[in-house]
Amino acid sequence: MKVGFIAMSGVRAYNEELTRIGLTLPGFVERSQVIASLPSLSLLTLAAMTPPPIEVEYREIKDLRNTPPLPTDYDLVAISSFSAQIYEAYQVADEYRRQGIPVVLGGLHVSVLPEEAKTHCTSVVVGEGEISWGKVVADFVAGKLQDYYTPAGESYNLADAPIPRYELLDIEQYNRLTVQTSRGCPHRCDFCASSILLTPKYKVKPVEQVIAEIRRIKAIWKHPFIEFADDNSFVIREYYKRLLRALKDEGLRWFTEADISVAEDEGLLHLMRESGCRQVLIGLESPTPQGLDGVEQRRNWKLKKLPDYESAIRTIQGHGITVDGCFILGLDGDGEDIFDRVYEFVENTGLYEVQLTVLTPFPGTPLYHRLRQEGRLLEDRAWHKCTLFDVNYVPKQMSVERLERGLVELSRRIYDSAFIRDRRRRFFKTLRRSGVEWLQKMEEGWGDEYRDDQEAVCDRRAV
Ligand code: SF4
Repeated sequence: MKVGFIAMSGVRAYNEELTRIGLTLPGFVERSQVIASLPSLSLLTLAAMTPPPIEVEYREIKDLRNTPPLPTDYDLVAISSFSAQIYEAYQVADEYRRQGIPVVLGGLHVSVLPEEAKTHCTSVVVGEGEISWGKVVADFVAGKLQDYYTPAGESYNLADAPIPRYELLDIEQYNRLTVQTSRGCPHRCDFCASSILLTPKYKVKPVEQVIAEIRRIKAIWKHPFIEFADDNSFVIREYYKRLLRALKDEGLRWFTEADISVAEDEGLLHLMRESGCRQVLIGLESPTPQGLDGVEQRRNWKLKKLPDYESAIRTIQGHGITVDGCFILGLDGDGEDIFDRVYEFVENTGLYEVQLTVLTPFPGTPLYHRLRQEGRLLEDRAWHKCTLFDVNYVPKQMSVERLERGLVELSRRIYDSAFIRDRRRRFFKTLRRSGVEWLQKMEEGWGDEYRDDQEAVCDRRAV
């Protein structure tokens, strides 16, 4: 008996014009490479939960049009996909079912749209997959798969998580591997389609388990680059300080996503640096109060943090950790001047790395429901346009064309090689001035390796 785990892992812009004009720009190219290079941690975890003697196999589909014929020797297929590739996932599921092979679909997209998914598969796993997988496998073996597996108000305890089956990966294909330390986020952003849709509370994985996972990775990759597959690391400071102290001796280079408050804790920043943190990705969203107003829906947290943005970036980068600042163009509060405002902000702060995206109505988000209600979706259920580059709504303060043009023009300016070089030079210059102890090592030759890591990290950013 054999289960095929299939991850839909590629994302590209849908708009052909945008592809023609803009997709050669480094920001776009890097982002699609990053997404395509991430293995599906959830499927590797479910593979680890599949008991022997059932065989397991892991596959990725980056672009269905250029994928060789898929194996047909599976008895069960489990597919996970981003919204942008969900229609390709449905095609794969339809094809397997046509061959008489049952298909289970899971992940964020199908969890918010289980009825849509059910028309293409045998069973839909709603919510955190680990809660239901044991039952799915048992039902499959017994020949009585159910239509839906929906945990009734349960939340998965990350302490119960097995070590993902990293050894199923063709390790040569990856420039980093992911490890999850937490799930959830205490904030509620209007547009957020992350693990907050699956878990209402922030939760962490025990430190010893995270270290065990990292050691398992090191058994197949001596000096790995790790990305923490968290939506917002460092929320529980004491936990993370314990984790970082434990990480210090592991010889890692790592990357994660966090919110701007990470800059408030010097001790944490020091530990991050000491344990190998190379870059943090932070959702800044907009450099304007109008743009940020209402984005975070619980306490308007992001608006309140705006006055700290510039100094926070300097503080983090001053610790030798580069910041990848993410902006969302086309927020309701922002007008046509947003393109210049973002550029000025990047120039002022010397942000090492920048991600530009357009506001995207992912299914299940408050944003999607609001835009739908206001009649502002250009095409409902156009999930293939959930790429973060394609505009699928009517912006409040500019035309669709202006937003599309603004994205491309701003990208040309932000990703201009001289501007990138200048920001990177400033980063190293600031470090040199701060004269921190480890900078000596850089001056003595470690700098090249450090810079290589920074180049590598550019290829390793997530959405
Ligand atoms: S801070 Fe980030 S992860 Fe948290 S809700 Fe906002 S967008 Fe989502």
